[in-house]
Amino acid sequence: MIDRYSRQTLFEGIGEEGQRRLGNSCAVVIGCGALGTIMATSLVRAGVGRVRIIDRDFIEYSNLQRQVLFNEDDIRNQLPKAVAAERHLKKVNSSIEIEGIVADVNFTNIEKFIRSADIVLDGLDNFETRFLINDASVKHGIPWVYGGAVSSVGMTMTIVPHETPCFRCVVPNPTRRGILLTCDTAGVISPAPFTIGSLQVAEAMKILVGAKEEINRDLISIDVWKGSFTHIGISPRPDCPACQGKYEFLEGKFGVKTTSLCGQNAVQVLNPKTGELSFKELATRLKAVGKVTYNEFMLHFEIDSQEMVIFPDGRAIIKNTTDESLARGLYAKYIGA
Ligand SMILES: [Zn+2]
Repeated sequence: MIDRYSRQTLFEGIGEEGQRRLGNSCAVVIGCGALGTIMATSLVRAGVGRVRIIDRDFIEYSNLQRQVLFNEDDIRNQLPKAVAAERHLKKVNSSIEIEGIVADVNFTNIEKFIRSADIVLDGLDNFETRFLINDASVKHGIPWVYGGAVSSVGMTMTIVPHETPCFRCVVPNPTRRGILLTCDTAGVISPAPFTIGSLQVAEAMKILVGAKEEINRDLISIDVWKGSFTHIGISPRPDCPACQGKYEFLEGKFGVKTTSLCGQNAVQVLNPKTGELSFKELATRLKAVGKVTYNEFMLHFEIDSQEMVIFPDGRAIIKNTTDESLARGLYAKYIGA
């Protein structure tokens, strides 16, 4: 094993002792898109002893432009991302434990998934689950690294519970008006998630080897198109619910709710956080990827075989499916959750 990690142990920030610590650590990657594949592959190659990868999606051709672990065979074999990631990564490093879990992470299961983790890495495409990671990590005292990327921009921040400000200190109010930018509507170029994912892994390594004084304590914002890299100072918020032990997302208070509509082959998605939508703005975004019609009461959107009807209060009905997890995924993709 010495040869495998020799270039890493030569690095003074890690050394033999750091490598031993990495080998005894468990990292959980939630979401295996562009950020997740970069992070999972780096952690596995670095010799983190246990890497757990959780994702709810299958692989599509439009993923291959940036999701480095996947290939065309995975699509032909209709593999879920978590399964494909596990299979590929086991060939990269057979000396560690790699576990791919196909699941929709929500308030009922997140604590089970992050139990025994030394670090949690955010590879998500939606804010809702991020707040959930924050609650669960703060509650169990597990450090986590936030990361997000869309278009040519990205952000990352490291949260060490009870030492640094938490995610909810920075984004206090989960309710919002309107539409969030997503990769499925605004697009994304691979350098943005690759840069953010790499920064997240560097933070994870520092935490796992015990180099706490080296941890980044700012919110970092990048734009790879402009070549800009900005540190934004953050401070703890005295009235932050999570820091005071109130885990509202973990209690399901703000969660997206899905209901399979009996006999209709459709799923209703309610997101209390979406608030009032501007159809004009949403239509402009969605027209770039599919077919849109709307009036003042509802917006109808079609893409491939998927069809959804969206109401001004943010409620949506996803047609031609009874799969609630798929419906949540489509909602997150096109409206943002
Ligand atoms: Zn906080």
